[in-house]
Amino acid sequence: MGIEYERIDHVLGAVPTPCYIVSEALLENNLRRLRQVADRAGCKILLAQKAFSMYFYYPLIGKYLDGVTASGLYEARLGYEELCQHEIMDISKAAKRCENHVFSPAYTKAQMGELLDICDHIVFNSFAQWEMHKEAALRAGKSCGIRINPECSTQDHAIYDPCGPGSRLGVTPDKFAGNALEGLEGLHFHCLCEQNADALITTMNAVEEKFGASLYQMRWLNMGGGHHITRADYDVEGLIALIQRIQEKYGLTVYLEPGEAVALNAGFLVTQVLEIVENSGIMTAIVDTSAACHMPDVLEMPYRPPLCGSGELGEKACTYRLGGPTCLAGDVIGAYSFDRALHVGDRLVFGDMAIYSMVKNNTFNGMPLPAIIALDQNGAWQVIKQFGYADFKMRL
Ligand SMILES: *Cc1c(COP(=O)(O)O)cnc(C)c1O
Repeated sequence: MGIEYERIDHVLGAVPTPCYIVSEALLENNLRRLRQVADRAGCKILLAQKAFSMYFYYPLIGKYLDGVTASGLYEARLGYEELCQHEIMDISKAAKRCENHVFSPAYTKAQMGELLDICDHIVFNSFAQWEMHKEAALRAGKSCGIRINPECSTQDHAIYDPCGPGSRLGVTPDKFAGNALEGLEGLHFHCLCEQNADALITTMNAVEEKFGASLYQMRWLNMGGGHHITRADYDVEGLIALIQRIQEKYGLTVYLEPGEAVALNAGFLVTQVLEIVENSGIMTAIVDTSAACHMPDVLEMPYRPPLCGSGELGEKACTYRLGGPTCLAGDVIGAYSFDRALHVGDRLVFGDMAIYSMVKNNTFNGMPLPAIIALDQNGAWQVIKQFGYADFKMRL
């Protein structure tokens, strides 16, 4: 099951570049799969907005998922304003409440004041934070939890590993011991990144070993994000079996809060070749999109984004480096090969560009931000957002 580039063939020549195109049909396929998992496992699934905050699609997402989760006040507000405030009805159940969760490593009193008006579940990162906000949160009737750190690394991307040595995320077992848990209804962990059910099982074993006794006192357990549930090879049966076992054993409700899995492979980034240069035998096509500004994970993670019709370096006849039009020498998206030579004006399509893309955009070098386009079930497209000079200037 590859990336369905053919979904956007008919709009390629017409859209402005650079632009993100998010396909409603592809997004809905993911949502359907997530709803099936939630229904079969009897758990709840929330959208982690930090990966995908294109709120044009929140009404659709609200039909399938149980709510949203936020990394802080602004995402929480967005989830409230664009989804939970409207109490979307679920397609499979008669009616449901849209849940609005938030986790932050540290809340100020002012932020907490606003969060108490819009969130129902609040997760704290330390017992000191819990003590600071406990009275206000409980008085407001909130369901509160604490993030734990099982110190169990199952991946090697250090910047995405909250379980590594010295991590500031989550209470480690030594700091957890001896604290009073009255008033806390949930535990939260987030340890995975683009992983399968086997890594979750390993993590959950560590959680049970180190925090198991406390789980019996909880009403919910949030297993965070990083579950690549909508990837073709994901072990859905293993995930469901694990969730059912945990819910039965401890008598609690499990939450998952995937970001990536919600919009995985549902978006594209269309760019145009502006210029072609050669140095030391290396051909570079300069395109009107930038790794640094429009796909920063390419440099941070790093990874090489999929590109329609291309091969690995040297695999096809003509190999090019693709680079952005910024002054950053390292603003290189990657090396790709093509059946024929590239020319100025050619349009190229990157895949999997819905997640961690528009939420991370910046205007370094005064780069224009890509337009945001929605493609509906019938293949009709509309520009949701277009940006210009004002969007660059107003932040400076
Ligand atoms: C990043 C994050 C998520 C979402 O992770 P994905 O990898 O996008 O699924 C969920 N919960 C927390 C606490 C996070 O930090």
